[in-house]
This record gives sequence, structure tokens and C-alpha cells, in this order.
Amino acid sequence: MSAPAPARPVPPLGMVTGVPIEFDRISRSFGSVHALHEVSLTVAPGEIVALLGPSGSGKSTLLRICAGLDEPTTGDLRFDGTSQLGLPPHRRDVSMVFQHFALYPHKSALDNLTLALRHGRGLSRSAAVARARETLAMLGIADLAGRRPAQMSGGQRQRVAIGRALATRARVILLDEPMSGLDAQLRVELRVEIVGLLRSLGTTALFVTHDQAEAMAVGDRVAVLGEGRLQQIGTPDEIYDRPATRFVAAFVGSPP
Ligand code: ADP
Ligand code: MG
Repeated sequence: MSAPAPARPVPPLGMVTGVPIEFDRISRSFGSVHALHEVSLTVAPGEIVALLGPSGSGKSTLLRICAGLDEPTTGDLRFDGTSQLGLPPHRRDVSMVFQHFALYPHKSALDNLTLALRHGRGLSRSAAVARARETLAMLGIADLAGRRPAQMSGGQRQRVAIGRALATRARVILLDEPMSGLDAQLRVELRVEIVGLLRSLGTTALFVTHDQAEAMAVGDRVAVLGEGRLQQIGTPDEIYDRPATRFVAAFVGSPP
């Protein structure tokens, strides 16, 4: 165990009220590929659900559908009981952290956050700058405000990308393998930080990973996807102690 990090001053961020999410028999086919098959899953307000599955199991497709970047072939998606199908991403109160940062390479950290707030949230320039600075400070990276992505380490870039998602105060945050490419030590540090931030904000979150230890550490519940089907959802202990299918037992590595 390393020594606890010194307490960071937490500026008045304002809580959000996480929205309940219902995936209702969501299927998605790409030609003959059935990426998702009748996935039903309910996420409670403020809950963090880890979506765990091997590569190709449909994790990203499910997140993209939630964000409005893709639509299901059949099924419904509801936030707080209201169908989101057909609503474009900016009407959904969702923000997403992608696998590969997706920061604007030619913009500073501050500008990356400010642009998201101005375009995504319609804030004035001065309000956006104030909130962007507050968020960078909250993440302990105020000193990176003027740097472009190429001038940062991988971990710093990913903090900025997470800051950009949190700054919008969306009621749903979707993270798609947000730490792939970072070294093991940094992943552990960042995941503790991310979970703390999500909890302090109260946002509802879906956290995609193919790493079972990460899923178990991050999720209030873990949803295991295999071959486009929801194999099991439960607390980390339930998944580990009572795998519902052979697939889960094999993937999680617990005795069947
Ligand atoms: P994961 O994120 O778990 O690795 P994906 O959701 O990216 O899985 O992919 C699930 C399946 O759907 C894979 O077989 C993938 O090849 C297929 N797929 C995803 N997006 C598309 C697309 N736009 N066109 C065709 N096939 C796709
Ligand atoms: Mg993926």
C-alpha cells in the first residue's frame, strides 16, 4: 500500500442526480453479425455498473447505443422512463470517455474542456473557462491547462479526457476501456480516483473493461457480456462465487 495522497481541495462542483437507465431487450445486428442479442439491463441512479466481456462481445456497441452514436435494431433504451431512441447524442445528457482519449490534438487541455462545455452545454465562454479550470483543479491537473495532448503523458491525457466528461455534469457517464494503454500501477491509481469522482458527483456510470479485476474493483455490480448476450449481472461477489453460466465461470476464472 502506498501512502494516502494529500487531500485535494474540492471546489463546489454541485451534485448531479444520476438518471436510471433501462436497456430493454436491445439487439443490434450488422449484416449477419449479431453484436447484441436481447440485452436487458437496469442501472440505478448513481450506480456504477462495470460491463465486462472479451473483445468482440458487444460492449462498445452497447455504450454507443446508450450515447446515441448508434441505434439498436430492436429493443428500447429509456432514461428515467423516457425512450431515448432517435434522440441525437447532444439531447441525451450523456458524456463519454473513449478508449483512445479523443482529445483535440491541436488544442490545450483547457480548450478541450471549454469546447465541450460551450458546444455540448451551451455555456458562455467565461462560464465554460471557469468550470473547466475548476474541473482541472478537482482532478489535480490545473498545471496542465495550457498543454496540448502531445505535451502530456498517457495518464495526464486520460485525466484530461475524464475531466472533459465530468465537467459537463451529464447525468450519465459512459467510459469505454478508459485506461487501456496505461501501465498497471497507473490504472489502479486512476480507477480509484475515477470511482471517487463518480461517487462524489452522483452520476450514473457504465464502465467498460475486458479486465475482470478492474470490473470487480470498479463496479457496484458487474454485467458480463459474452457473444452479444448478457450472461449475468450481479455484485462482484455474486459473479465470482456463483457464476451463472459456463462462459462466466471460464471468463472470471472462478470454479464452476
Ligand atoms: P467489444 O467492444 O466488446 O470489443 P464491439 O461492440 O466493438 O465489441 O463489437 C461487437 C461485434 O460487432 C464484433 O463482432 C464487431 O466486429 C461487430 N461490429 C461492431 N461495430 C460494427 C460495425 N460498425 N460494422 C460491422 N460490425 C461491427
Ligand atoms: Mg470495445
